[in-house]
Amino acid sequence: MQPCLPIETASPKPRRSRQARAMWGSRVVTIGGDAPVRIQSMTNTDTQDPIGTAIQVKELAVAGSELVRITVNTPEAAAQVPYIREQLDRMGIDVPLIGDFHYNGHRLLTDYPACAEALSKYRINPGNVGKGDKRDKQFGQMIEAAMRWNKPVRIGVNWGSLDQELLAHLMDINSRRAEPWDAKSVMYEALVSSAIESAQRAQEMGMDGDQVILSCKVSGVQDLISVYRELARRCDYALHLGLTEAGMGTKGTVASSVALGILLQEGIGDTIRVSLTPAPGESRTQEVVIASEIIQALGLRSFVPSVTACPGCGRTTSTTFQELAKQIDDYLRAQMPVWRAKYPGVEKMKVAVMGCIVNGPGESKHADIGISLPGTGEAPAAPVFIDGQKAMTLRGDNIANEFHEIVENYIEKRFGHVAEHV
Ligand code: SF4
Repeated sequence: MQPCLPIETASPKPRRSRQARAMWGSRVVTIGGDAPVRIQSMTNTDTQDPIGTAIQVKELAVAGSELVRITVNTPEAAAQVPYIREQLDRMGIDVPLIGDFHYNGHRLLTDYPACAEALSKYRINPGNVGKGDKRDKQFGQMIEAAMRWNKPVRIGVNWGSLDQELLAHLMDINSRRAEPWDAKSVMYEALVSSAIESAQRAQEMGMDGDQVILSCKVSGVQDLISVYRELARRCDYALHLGLTEAGMGTKGTVASSVALGILLQEGIGDTIRVSLTPAPGESRTQEVVIASEIIQALGLRSFVPSVTACPGCGRTTSTTFQELAKQIDDYLRAQMPVWRAKYPGVEKMKVAVMGCIVNGPGESKHADIGISLPGTGEAPAAPVFIDGQKAMTLRGDNIANEFHEIVENYIEKRFGHVAEHV
């Protein structure tokens, strides 16, 4: 059968949200609109410990987090926020800090103006901003603080702390429907309405809609997709995406990747966070690594050179190629904080480390630089391909180090001179 049309390349749909800005001092990070999808993360240190918190914020920022959220839960924590900002400035860490407020944010932002000023954005959870007639008043106090200090807000709804009065009201309306919705649909509606109605209330108070970012986090993949599709359909505020309580390790990584990947491909989402529970002893920065991999895998942005490695099979009975792939991947990642400035464009580079002759030479030719290691029974030689051409063959016990050197020389030659002209 003859094809009648060329097969279209899949690509993410364009986003259509308006643009917001996280600001501190004279520095600005844009979110939404035509800004790139931003990576966020959150510390798990005690904010009362300014040094420990500043160090973790630095680690997250160096790993690639473009906005870092910190808990501001007590007067003592609020009092430390300006010192955390100061420490970061002293370390040359130019990352905006977001204050995560629950229950008492109205008081903390009023009583600690230096905290309100040092933060670049406030996260407000409309589900726990106050109950009854206090709710609107306390929400209003937070919005007033944001307008006073010219900061954007994220109105962040979470199904674990959904506004129970709103949910009860929607349940009540639902019970009077001729054909009531199922409980899940009412919950979705409560999440979306809570976010949009709170944003509208902020705008009625005089807040610029461009200073509002929304999120509606749930912990189920299909629930998240349903809720964000509806949120994107009903408003054009910038959206922060994340699967809340994603879980640990493989489960959290896969669930976040699937949910965020589908939504980003549909053009939904302006900032993302992977809410991964770190394994004991695991670095907090893992959530940033995964978030950047999701964005890079979709072709939305590039952060680190990508290493294509085959899975290995019965043709590779040694671990040499696994070790080499890991070494190269670790090395490229570790160099990126320096290379980002020194070698502009290096983040788009593709490296292939392959296990045998079956797909090795072919995959290596598709990469900028690739090596095809010998499989079991093959001659002990590893051809290296540069820009699609076989450039040399490595032999002996020092293949890993030699390939390392070849990669370094390639980067210097290809991307080094670019920096001189920037
Ligand atoms: S490239 Fe070779 S070693 Fe790697 S998976 Fe394919 S057949 Fe196996």
